[in-house]
Amino acid sequence: MRKTTKDDAPPLREMVRKGVSGAKRLGKTACRVLGLDFLLPPGDPVFFDIELSHRCNLSCRMCWYHGTRGIGDRYGDRELTRREVFDFVDRIAGYKPGIYIGGTEPFVRSDFLPILGHVKSHGIPVSFTTNGLLLDNDKTAELLSIGVDTIYFSIDGDREIHDRERGRGSFEKATAAIRRISEFKKARSCSRPVVRVNMTINNRLLGGVERAICSIRNATNDGFDSLVIHLLRYITPGELSKHREAVLRSLGCRAPGAASHLAPDYEVPDPAALADEIAGIRDLPKISMFPDLGRGDLVHYYSDGPCARKRCIAPLRGVVVKPNGDVLFCPDEWIDDHVLGNIREQDIAEIWKGEKARKFRSALFRVKQFPACKRCSWMYAFG
Ligand code: SF4
Repeated sequence: MRKTTKDDAPPLREMVRKGVSGAKRLGKTACRVLGLDFLLPPGDPVFFDIELSHRCNLSCRMCWYHGTRGIGDRYGDRELTRREVFDFVDRIAGYKPGIYIGGTEPFVRSDFLPILGHVKSHGIPVSFTTNGLLLDNDKTAELLSIGVDTIYFSIDGDREIHDRERGRGSFEKATAAIRRISEFKKARSCSRPVVRVNMTINNRLLGGVERAICSIRNATNDGFDSLVIHLLRYITPGELSKHREAVLRSLGCRAPGAASHLAPDYEVPDPAALADEIAGIRDLPKISMFPDLGRGDLVHYYSDGPCARKRCIAPLRGVVVKPNGDVLFCPDEWIDDHVLGNIREQDIAEIWKGEKARKFRSALFRVKQFPACKRCSWMYAFG
């Protein structure tokens, strides 16, 4: 047998290193699959969805805050001040997290740009969603100077569909804002902010998805980086009562806000036809889908089929911070009355490892998911 020589050492070391990291990866996957990571103390939070406000400049019909079934603005004058947001960002910077500014239209806060600037002064990746209506030339220039990473624009379809949902003229303003960002980026030869259009699929778009994409492409001069076919976040009356029973049993909560996702007039009557329609456009340039589901899972998503994921791991990754500083695990009001703590009163590390957080994780370890989780974006966002 040939002896190991000095020349063999680096490849051997490399093989051992690869073997160890492969075993670690395998261990992590096994922990995930078996749910064992819920039994270990959680690592640090790596994602914060900070909702600066629930006020808005629009009342879009499908919105779970200000739409037909919306819960309205529950926080009024109790919003975190600029100083409080700055302090919070200072405290979480050490986690090296990603921050998403959620809630309603963020530009309703006059201090939104300084807040973004403060986040970026820590080098933290930041993104937010906007309807684009308040984004003028000056704000656009500042966004580029700050170095914001990603902006999501909500556009519901072509001009007619979008304006019917959000008000006349809103399509023109939103697409003009995208054109402007694209022109500024070209002029400065920079690639940020990445611009993504979120187009949520409901029955209004059936048979016209490609037409809507073309319309947005034309109106923006193809100025977006990607267009995400977003699956509708909704719940049926039957699912809502099962969801409420489950969270009451597991957490002692009533999930009042989940009813804001009841959207019978948006439901897709023929999910198979929708899946075929989407399959036909998936390969178009710059088009993606979220959640990214295969045909069968997509049909299940828009019907009463099973969820494509087995278990939610979001409470091991991050939290939502509400406008008044309340901390929750679930976004979009799916379980809006299990408050883990408040950043005005407690340190985030204490909240993250506190009793309410442990109770939620252990309930989720047992049930794996609640009925509403099937159409919660965080079910799919964390892998
Ligand atoms: S998937 Fe369910 S448990 Fe997980 S964050 Fe969403 S609503 Fe909460």
